[in-house]
Amino acid sequence: MTKKTWKKPTIFEAEIGKCRYCFKVVLTTDSFVSFLSVDENGQREKAHYLCMEKDYYKQLTNQQKKDNDKKRLSQNEIR
Ligand SMILES: [Zn+2]
Repeated sequence: MTKKTWKKPTIFEAEIGKCRYCFKVVLTTDSFVSFLSVDENGQREKAHYLCMEKDYYKQLTNQQKKDNDKKRLSQNEIR
């Protein structure tokens, strides 16, 4: 009789969801963030930390560009 040895499941990588920015799978080994908003399955939306950071800075630079445009416009108005 062969004795079955129960192997402790070692989970190195487990999928926790799709990234809301790059739509790739987010793994437990990745640094990720979860949002308060939920997707169509009622699951919290997840994202790679880096994707969120990139998106944040993208929005930030867009805002800065808008501000610069405003400044340029007002300077033109003065002249
Ligand atoms: Zn991502």
